[in-house]
Amino acid sequence: MLGLTVIRVSPTVSMSTHSQPFRTRFAPSPTGFLHIGGARTALFAWLIARHSGGQFVLRIEDTDQARSTQASVDAILDGLKWLGLDCDEGPHFQSQRQARYQAIVDDLLAKGLAYRCYCSKERLASLRERAIAQGDKPRYDGHCRDAQAPVAGVEPVIRFKNPTAGKVKFFDHVYGDIEVANSELDDLVIMRSDGTPTYNFAVVVDDWDMDINLVLRGDDHINNTPRQINLYHALGVSPPEFAHVPMILGPDGKRYSKRHGAEGVMSWRAQGFLPSAMVNYLARLGWSHGDQEIFSLDELIGAFSIEGINRKAARFDVEKLTWLNHHHLREGDPNEAMDELRWHLNRLGCPTTDDIDLAALLALQAERLDRLDAIAAESAPFFVDFDDFDPKAAKKHLRPVALEPLERLLAKLKALTTWTPEVLQSAIQETADELELSFGKIGMPLRVALMGHGQSPAINETLGLMGQDRSIARIERAIEWIQDRVGEHGA
Ligand code: GLU
Repeated sequence: MLGLTVIRVSPTVSMSTHSQPFRTRFAPSPTGFLHIGGARTALFAWLIARHSGGQFVLRIEDTDQARSTQASVDAILDGLKWLGLDCDEGPHFQSQRQARYQAIVDDLLAKGLAYRCYCSKERLASLRERAIAQGDKPRYDGHCRDAQAPVAGVEPVIRFKNPTAGKVKFFDHVYGDIEVANSELDDLVIMRSDGTPTYNFAVVVDDWDMDINLVLRGDDHINNTPRQINLYHALGVSPPEFAHVPMILGPDGKRYSKRHGAEGVMSWRAQGFLPSAMVNYLARLGWSHGDQEIFSLDELIGAFSIEGINRKAARFDVEKLTWLNHHHLREGDPNEAMDELRWHLNRLGCPTTDDIDLAALLALQAERLDRLDAIAAESAPFFVDFDDFDPKAAKKHLRPVALEPLERLLAKLKALTTWTPEVLQSAIQETADELELSFGKIGMPLRVALMGHGQSPAINETLGLMGQDRSIARIERAIEWIQDRVGEHGA
């Protein structure tokens, strides 16, 4: 924050409903992952474009070459793609627009709206120190504004001649009417001495060139907006509309950051969240529509409006995200969930071209589990043989007393000519009846035999999904395992 006195004149004012198509943009700096805050900004801008029948433009703000990386560009593109936020134009790269920035700077210089500044670092530092010592805000004093005599050997920066009198007024769709006195603003550097444009300048040229009519971004930029508006006026262009979105807080009420485990959007994929759940969650993080919590993407596009964006900072809540994930896993688009489950299974080395019915598996597992990473981990034995039995589960359930029930059941299963959960239920029940055992006395050893561990959906469903051949092989393996142990102990 630049520490300007931003006066929020009438925070309750809200412009009437807009019918124009909004052309919005997302303009990340590629210096890291697409994090939650960036993803939400992108989503809001995308939703407004889609809701209003406008367009969504992607622009990579990579003028800071030292901090920008290709890996980060890829991570941002991957994150947007995973969330389903397709762009109508872009990505544009600021690094490819240098000639344009230079042309505008030349034009501003020629018109006397900008000037070369030769002030040394030392001079600027002492100005700064003096201001701080006097309790003032550090501001450039305009030393080179009217005296542009070149200093030999010094490559100048270019500064914008900010108006010295009057006020900048604008309407923010979230914060209402805002005004800032020009006396609060100083002459902004628009081009560094190495010829690269600064953020405030490049963003104005780009938003103008790209016909953006609504700039939606984090409210950490709200103090930049008056400076940008002055630049628009100097260029003879009307500024776009603005909407500044409040920040996201961590559970401790502080700005959500890496400290809270804030990571790239793709790490949420690895943690088993669905893109539809993420989008639903992010949309509700700082926006509301009555008390509705659950939205499909189409519902969001239909319902989203700038007026529903809250001025209060929202708190990130992983429990709510998990709750939404569970909902979308059970009630959402099964194809999305299956695609994601395949991704998780493949990561675990499970081939999914098998004949396992993924839709059925997902429906069963989503009754018990709320994240896809857990569903995939627990479901791996349906696809690949497990190395060994979980020692605790084996110790408890694969005991000599389980031999007879497993052998009897095995004989019945081998003889079956249909393999449905109903038929399998009867086979287990009959075995239990014949041996006068409870269903569980067979069910648990059977579960450990099939899965290697003690967790699975209902056991007849588990058998059904696993298929006859694989189930028989697993039960035979468990029987042998018990027999080996019995042999070792001389029983
Ligand atoms: N590159 C800026 C950022 O990542 C974009 C700000 C804007 O949207 O104007 O914060």
